[in-house]
Amino acid sequence: MKWTNKGHELDSAGEQLCRLFHDKEKKLYIFGAGRIGREVKAVFVKTGCFAGFLDNDENKQRTGVDGAEVLSLQTYREEQRNGLLVIAADRKHIPAMENQLLGAGLKKKQDFYTATEFMERIFPILSVYEFGRLFVDIVQICLTERCSLKCKKCAHACYAVDKSRADMSLETAKESADCLFGKIDLMREFVLIGGEPFLYAGLPEIISYIGERYRDKMSVFSITTNGTILPCQAVLDACKRYDVLIRISNYSSAIERLEEQYKKLLKRLEESRIDYVLGDKEQRWVDYGFESVDWGWQEAELLKTFERCKTPCREIRGSRYYYCVMARSVSENLRMNLGDKDYLDLARLEGDGKKLLMEFQMGYSERGYLAMCNHCRGADAVRYPIPAAEQISCRQYSRNAWKRREVR
Ligand code: SF4
Ligand code: SF4
Repeated sequence: MKWTNKGHELDSAGEQLCRLFHDKEKKLYIFGAGRIGREVKAVFVKTGCFAGFLDNDENKQRTGVDGAEVLSLQTYREEQRNGLLVIAADRKHIPAMENQLLGAGLKKKQDFYTATEFMERIFPILSVYEFGRLFVDIVQICLTERCSLKCKKCAHACYAVDKSRADMSLETAKESADCLFGKIDLMREFVLIGGEPFLYAGLPEIISYIGERYRDKMSVFSITTNGTILPCQAVLDACKRYDVLIRISNYSSAIERLEEQYKKLLKRLEESRIDYVLGDKEQRWVDYGFESVDWGWQEAELLKTFERCKTPCREIRGSRYYYCVMARSVSENLRMNLGDKDYLDLARLEGDGKKLLMEFQMGYSERGYLAMCNHCRGADAVRYPIPAAEQISCRQYSRNAWKRREVR
């Protein structure tokens, strides 16, 4: 979306959301008292609007979760509780939970939202207009583009990065965190990623730097790893100290030997009492087409593609705040030289810049799209499934490295 009224693009949406929030007595309930619900709860607690959990699990209703009350949907309705409900659960459970709420006479977008929609599209606006606090759902920092795997369709094109490529310097990593947290008040999740972040030599130091200064601004501080590398004791100690969650992408369907590796990693994490999530075995990815698509589109089509896409993954790099981490990394790693203007410079924001930054976060910019959208299938990528984590052979890699393979 193009900026036409900078700093005021979402005034009317903000007003409407504040009205709805006040009608709901400024109370937010979370339907689903599992891990995702607890992550969302930590954000709501910081803004003083968390009212309680709902859950179908009778045990949780009896004992409560995280020191909070857990209601059944029936009790919630019988006691005529008033509030906005946010469904927080694994994607596969959402349709059934939505149906349960609809069946109880509640209305979507009036009485309830899914957590993804609420945290990405609603709460950032509400937070600025109601509380004067800038909230973003998730931001990543790519500490290294090097990786221990070479996945054929890596969405960051890390397969094209040479092992000798210099990582982000520790100074830049620290500057990135300072710039970001200097502007943002609250975040659901801040992620250290790569490439493979366990290859980053300064990992213990950057975890400690961020943890010491900014841990209270985020609900989840995490590292996403492919699980091929066992972290050293210094990394484990820093993770323990700052309550860092290790998210392990599960590529064992494509790479069988990883099963054993994951067992070793999990054992090490458990011994160090570090929280982790081993993802479900990934079977299918989508092909964004970055290295093979060139639409040759004009502005109208690019605006439409960008608007439909709604990618959630923002990235901080020095003072540059990128809307799409994939666009930035693919452009750099495949040397496409695209998108030199596709970021917001946080160092140049005037005043607190909260509304401007929130608008950028929601997809507003001078151009209204990214240069990389011309080489991307965006929302249509779901129609191009590919096997997850298929590895590039050395021969394929040397033949194809740096090259764009096909032009439409
Ligand atoms: S998808 Fe992940 S594991 Fe695979 S090459 Fe990319 S960064 Fe590495
Ligand atoms: S359509 Fe544009 S914003 Fe969306 S993933 Fe592709 S490059 Fe990123």
